[in-house]
Amino acid sequence: MENLTELDKRHFIHPTSSIQQQQRDGAKVIMEKGEGIYLTDTNGNVYIDAMSSLWNVNIGHGREELAEVAAQQLKKLAFSSAFSTFSHEPAIKLAEKIASISPAGLNAVFFTSGGSESNDSAIKLVRHYWKIQGKQDRRKIIALKRGYHGVAAASTSVTGIPEFWGMAGHMMTDFTHAETPYGGNTEKAIASLRQVIEEEGPENIAAILAEPVQGAGGVLIPPADYFKEVRKLCDEYEILFIADEIITGFGRTGKMFGMENWGVTPDMMTFAKGVTSGYIPLGGVVVSDHIHNVLKEKSKGTLFHGFTYSGHPTAAALALKNIEIIEQENLIENSREMGEKLLEGFQKIKENLEIVGDVRTIGLLGAVELVQNPATNKRFAPDLNVAPRVIEALHERGVICRPVTFGGTDIICFAPPIVIDNKQVNTLVEKLYDSVLSVQKQIGVP
Ligand code: PLP
Repeated sequence: MENLTELDKRHFIHPTSSIQQQQRDGAKVIMEKGEGIYLTDTNGNVYIDAMSSLWNVNIGHGREELAEVAAQQLKKLAFSSAFSTFSHEPAIKLAEKIASISPAGLNAVFFTSGGSESNDSAIKLVRHYWKIQGKQDRRKIIALKRGYHGVAAASTSVTGIPEFWGMAGHMMTDFTHAETPYGGNTEKAIASLRQVIEEEGPENIAAILAEPVQGAGGVLIPPADYFKEVRKLCDEYEILFIADEIITGFGRTGKMFGMENWGVTPDMMTFAKGVTSGYIPLGGVVVSDHIHNVLKEKSKGTLFHGFTYSGHPTAAALALKNIEIIEQENLIENSREMGEKLLEGFQKIKENLEIVGDVRTIGLLGAVELVQNPATNKRFAPDLNVAPRVIEALHERGVICRPVTFGGTDIICFAPPIVIDNKQVNTLVEKLYDSVLSVQKQIGVP
C-alpha cells in the first residue's frame, strides 16, 4: 500500500489548514483509533484528546453502544428522506427528545448536518419570520467580535473573527459585530451592542446571534449578567435572540445547554457537535413556540429550505442513544465537577509559573492565557509564538490541545470529553505544567 502521508499530500485538502505546509510536510499525525479520552495514531502514539477533537466528542471515543445503534439503524432503514410530508421514527423521536431537554417554550426542531448549516438556517428562518409579517427590512444580524459561527455563506459573515473572512471576502452584507464582553464588563459590552442597534436602526435588525461562551475565540466566558442584559435589549427593540449552542450544548458547560448558566431563554438555539458526540454529522435549530406559530400561520406555500440529510435516520437514532448516555451516566454533573477540578489545577499552575495569566473553566470548557506580565496582562509579541509552542510541548507529552492567537492573544483551550475522571484531569494538569514550564525556559523566563 502506498504511504498514507504521500497520498494525503497528493489528494486531501485539509479543512482549516495551510495548504502550502501540508504539501511540504504532509499530515503530522494520522489517527487510527480512539477510546474514552484517548486517541492513538498509526505509529502507536497515544494522546489525551483534550479538545474532544473539535469540541464535539462529548461522551468520548469508541463507545460500542453508539456503533451498535448505528449498525441496527443502517440495517433497518439507513436513509429515507424527511422532505415535505415524509417522515421516519428516529427523526420524530429525536425532535421530541430535543424539545424535552431544551429551555421551556422551545419545542420545534429543524435538522441539518452540522453547525454552519444550522446557523445559516437560523438566519434564513429569522429573516423569513419577519418577512411573512410584512417586516422585510428586518434583515440585519448582529453578532459579537471574536464569535465563531461556521464557514457557510451566512455563518462566515456572522463570525466575528476577521481571519475567517480572508478567503473570499466578507461573504454577505447585513452583518455587524458589537464588542465582546471579553476582558471588559457588561456595561461596556451592552453599550456597544446598543450603539450598533441604534446605528443600524432597530427596524432593520432581525436578530442578535451569540455563543453562550465564545469557544474558538478563546473560551471567553461572559460576566454572569451579560446575557440577561442582552435579552432585555432584544425585548426592548423587538429583536430575536439566537443562541449558538454548537459547542456549549449537550453537557459541555456543566448544563445541558450553555444559556442555562445565564438563566436566559433564547428565541432560537442552534446545535450540532455534541448532539451525536461527532460519531455521525448532525445539527439543527430549535425554535420557540411563538416563532413556530408565526411560521405555521403566515408561511405561504413551500418553505424552500431543507438539506438532503435533514433528520438523517441513522444520525438521529445515534443522537438519541448519545443523549441517553449523557443523561444515564450523569455526564453533565461530571462535566461540572471535573471542570472545577481542572480549574483548581489551572490555578495551581498559575501560582507556580510566571507566564500564566487568566485561567477559567465553565464545566469542561476551559482556557489558560499566557502573558508576559500577569499583573498588567501585557501580552507577548506575536512572533514569539508562545501559545503554539505550548501546544507543541503538550503534543510531545501526548496531549492534543488548541491555541487561540487571534488579536495577539496566547490562549490554550481545553474541552476534554465529559467522561474524563479525576485521575485523568490530574495527568492533564501535570502535562500542562511541564509544557508551560519548558516554554517559559525556552523564551528565557526563569
Ligand atoms: N458555531 C460554533 C460555536 C462552532 O464552534 C462551530 C464549529 O466549531 C460552528 C458553529 C460551525 O460548525 P461546523 O464546523 O459543524 O459547521
